[in-house]
Amino acid sequence: MAHNHDSRQQSKRPRSAAVRAAASGTSLLRSLNAAAILRTLHREGPCSRARLTRLTGMSPPTVSRIVARLIERGLVVEVRRGESTGGRRPVLLQIDEAKLYAVGVQVQRDRVSCLLSDLRGAPLGRRAYPPFDLEPEGLIRELARELDGLIRQAGVDRRRVLGVGVGVAGVVDAGRGVVVRSVNLGWRDVPAAERLERLLGLPVVVQNDANAAAMAELWFGPAPRHETLMFLKTEAGVGAGILVDGRLISGPRGMAGEIGHVTVVEHGHPCRCGHAGCLETYVNLQDVLERYRHRTGQAVDKPAFFQRAQAGDPVARQLVDEAASALAHAVVYAGMLLDLQMVVIGGVWGQIGGDFLQTIEARHQATAQRTGLHMPVTIRGSSLGDDSELLGAIGFVVDRWFSPGAIDLSSWRPAPAPGAAGGPQTSRDQGEEAVRGAGTGADRESG
Ligand SMILES: [Zn+2]
Repeated sequence: MAHNHDSRQQSKRPRSAAVRAAASGTSLLRSLNAAAILRTLHREGPCSRARLTRLTGMSPPTVSRIVARLIERGLVVEVRRGESTGGRRPVLLQIDEAKLYAVGVQVQRDRVSCLLSDLRGAPLGRRAYPPFDLEPEGLIRELARELDGLIRQAGVDRRRVLGVGVGVAGVVDAGRGVVVRSVNLGWRDVPAAERLERLLGLPVVVQNDANAAAMAELWFGPAPRHETLMFLKTEAGVGAGILVDGRLISGPRGMAGEIGHVTVVEHGHPCRCGHAGCLETYVNLQDVLERYRHRTGQAVDKPAFFQRAQAGDPVARQLVDEAASALAHAVVYAGMLLDLQMVVIGGVWGQIGGDFLQTIEARHQATAQRTGLHMPVTIRGSSLGDDSELLGAIGFVVDRWFSPGAIDLSSWRPAPAPGAAGGPQTSRDQGEEAVRGAGTGADRESG
């Protein structure tokens, strides 16, 4: 898992009062320690207190005291499981992922989609609507209203919503929360995160949608997990989200992965950018369907086109082969440059089956073999379907929340006394579980 990849950038952005409060005053040290524990639990899964002590380097009493407070606040629960080593089964701690929430949003020209989920990614509510207005002010105001409605309708405690992640096609400065340029929306230098934060009173993260989708594959995709992967957005506009060793490669200007207008076929089909042979013109479905209509005189929609290709229609077949070949170019270059373990083809091209993905994989294999290297790459469609960008946007919220300084425990009310907790340390002084290890929090851990 990637953590803190943007913690340095975070400080660049002017934060709203709600967000600023999270990092203020004496709560900061406490929050740093609490964040370290939560981050460890998030990364490692259920842990004993002893293991937390080892992994965080804090003293056992400090760990115990912070854990007690996290339990009190309903952020962490105790579970009993794992192999018994003779005696009773150890008490493990885990983040109460079913009772913490985040919202993912994808903003497109003709459709805004919103998903409220818990931290496991389980959906709790959705909204989708055509935006009334593409102007940033109007669109953001409408979005804030819709999100308010979504949270209210789902009946979740708003104070337990960690934040909102927004995915946008285009160049995004995620550190400042600014949409630098989106051709799709016609936006330029829009401080979207700050504006939405002000209206909602919740932390907001903005990301490029291909980056969000790449992160979603890492966080929520099927096993085996590969940490060096590329998500290639295809169907309507091309963009790549690249993760190397679990870290997002977005570049100093946020422009890494903008490969739509890289030439993949010399003197190829004309592209809307005025050039010819760009990757985008081979995989943008509108362009492909238009080409089919031009060559056959028949207008077909997406399902009909792929049915014809499967049935052996020579023109449809050829256009599908061209798309595979164009994608193979991009995949081979990126694969050899970055030592990719996995490429996820987003949109319809990843879902059409047949030998489409195998063709691309074989091209990569052949290149690796010529180089004398054994570097297999897995190529697949997105298992998260239409939710991949939304889940990725949610993942960014979670990731930011687990970074140092982002968590303010004082804003978390005590959890409604769960039977599961069973710990003796209830309402202890909330003042001092900072870096000092002194205190009486008995470490009940046996291991
Ligand atoms: Zn082009």
